[in-house]
Amino acid sequence: MGLLSGKTVIVTGASRGIGRAIALYCGDEGASVAFTDLKADDFLFSLEKELLAKGVKAKGYASDASNYEQSQLLVDEVAKEFQTVDVLVNNAGITRDALLMRMSEEQWDMVINVNLKSVFNMTKAAQKYMLKQRSGSIINISSVVGVGGNAGQANYAASKAGIIGFTKSVAKELGSRNVRCNAIAPGFIVTDMTKTLSQEVIDEWFQKIPLKRGGTPEEVAKVVVFFGSDLSSYISGQVLHVCGAMQT
Ligand code: NAD
Repeated sequence: MGLLSGKTVIVTGASRGIGRAIALYCGDEGASVAFTDLKADDFLFSLEKELLAKGVKAKGYASDASNYEQSQLLVDEVAKEFQTVDVLVNNAGITRDALLMRMSEEQWDMVINVNLKSVFNMTKAAQKYMLKQRSGSIINISSVVGVGGNAGQANYAASKAGIIGFTKSVAKELGSRNVRCNAIAPGFIVTDMTKTLSQEVIDEWFQKIPLKRGGTPEEVAKVVVFFGSDLSSYISGQVLHVCGAMQT
């Protein structure tokens, strides 16, 4: 028996990086896993295969979390296929970094739509099932940048700070029906998202982190298992930093 036995978990943006680790960890803990990414490509199929090989009930869906209609259809389809919707992990996210002086309207809109509107789209779709079940756990992947800000990431920081306000509001709104909502604020996690940075910049970041290294996607996934499971049954409306004590 795993910590998530009998539960259905939906993870957005799971073909790569942190989302992929979340899908695999949840599968290892006994959950059935429905996951999304933008395209039904080799990354998506290989994750589906890996989960099925572990004996996990799993399905990958091509769905754009920033699209309202697609998100509603996706969650309805998952509910039909998996019967329940117990844990929603809003993980899909992008960066379009630029100093404000050079940031285009398109860079602003894209990041807000993919990182923040997606959380509204998916939570709105999933809550109706959770309310009916009178149980559920919504986990939103924010960032330490949403708490402390970061030069060159005003769009990203705003989207991640927005997620925190949304999380705390949803926790208050849905708490009476036993639906919990928490956010995770990762620090510097080594994935494709951070691979765009030069080794020099990466080393500089690591020096500033008290644990002297970046985190792994698995170290975030373990916290998702905690929030998704009954281990955290009295925890809601919280933001947990997974950042090696990095200053924000
Ligand atoms: P990643 O780029 O490795 O993976 C993100 C995945 O999301 C990709 O597979 C991508 O195709 C998918 N995606 C993008 N737009 C999507 C959309 N509209 N609909 C569905 N899927 C979409 O990134 P990651 O590092 O694994 O980041 C995952 C989450 O963690 C993001 O929300 C990110 O902001 C957050 N985060 C990452 C770090 C870090 O250091 N890596 C730090 C803090 C927070």
